[in-house]
Amino acid sequence: MPLRLKKTETHNALVIERGLYTKRFLLIVDREKCRGCGVCETICHIGAISLVDREKTIVDGEEVAQASILNIDEHLCDHCGMCEAMCPFGAIEHTVNGEPVVCVQETESFPHYVREIKVNEERINPYLDRADELCPLNLISVEDGKLVIDEKSCPCCRHCEDRTEGAILVRPVFLGSIIIHQEKCPEGCKSCLDVCPVEALELSEDGNVHPLGRHCVYCEACLQVCPKPEEALIVTRTSVRHTPVKSGAWNKALEKLATSDAFDREIRRKRTSKVAEAMKRRNMGGEK
Ligand code: SF4
Ligand code: SF4
Ligand code: SF4
Repeated sequence: MPLRLKKTETHNALVIERGLYTKRFLLIVDREKCRGCGVCETICHIGAISLVDREKTIVDGEEVAQASILNIDEHLCDHCGMCEAMCPFGAIEHTVNGEPVVCVQETESFPHYVREIKVNEERINPYLDRADELCPLNLISVEDGKLVIDEKSCPCCRHCEDRTEGAILVRPVFLGSIIIHQEKCPEGCKSCLDVCPVEALELSEDGNVHPLGRHCVYCEACLQVCPKPEEALIVTRTSVRHTPVKSGAWNKALEKLATSDAFDREIRRKRTSKVAEAMKRRNMGGEK
C-alpha cells in the first residue's frame, strides 16, 4: 500500500502521485499536448487508462467534435512508464524523486521511438522568421537565431518538410494506411477532421473528408471520435521505427500497437540478432 496516493486534475494537467517510504512517483499528463489518440490506452499493461468521449462544441454556429479526453485510474497505475515511452505526442512525463525516469526504458524492456528530423542549416535561413507557421503543433521555434524543434512531442507529420521545401527532412516513426469509405460516413459528419491534430484530413468540395496520407501519423485520434470506426474509417499501423530491444514485454506491446506483419518482422529481427550473437560468441571462443 502506498503511503500517499493522490490524483489532481486541472485544466492543463492530470497528475498522479504515489508516495512510498523512500520514493515519490509522479505521472503528469499535459492536457494541451494530449490529442486523445489512445496509443497509451492500447499499450497500458493493466488497463489503467481510458479515453472518455466529449460533447461536441459549437463554433460559429457549427458543431465541432472534440478529441477524447484521457483518464487514468490512480489505484491501478504502477508508474511503469509504458504510456510515456509510446505517446507519439510526448504528452506524458514520469518522475521518481523529482528526476525524469521512464522505468520500462531504464530497464531496457521498452525501446525509444526513432524520430529522424534533420535540419539543413544552409537552407533553413529563409524560413526562420516564419518558424511559427511551419508546424501544426507549434513545436518549432527560433532560439538565438537557430531553429529548435521539440522532438519528444513530434509525431513526424512532415508538414515542416513540405513547408520548407525540404530544408527540414523528416522520416516517420509509424508507417501505415488510412482509408475512409465516404459512402459509409453519416451525412455531414466531419468529426475525424475536427480532431486530427496534424491537418492530415481535408474536406473536399463534395462535402466528404479525404485523408492526406503523406501527413497522417496513424495516431488514431480520429478513430476515437468516428461514429463508424473500422467501417467508415480504417487506420492501420504496419511498422514502428524504434531502437533495438530484446524484451518479451515489447513483443506483447507491439502486437497490440501494430499489425501482425510488424510483430512477425520484430520476432524475425530478434531471431537473426540472437543467431548473430551466438555465432559471434562461438567465433570468439575459437580465437585462441
Ligand atoms: S498516447 Fe499521448 S496523446 Fe495519445 S491519448 Fe495517450 S497521452 Fe494523449
Ligand atoms: S514533423 Fe510535423 S509535428 Fe514534427 S516538427 Fe515537423 S511539422 Fe511539427
Ligand atoms: S488522420 Fe491520421 S494523423 Fe489525423 S487523427 Fe487520424 S490517424 Fe491521426
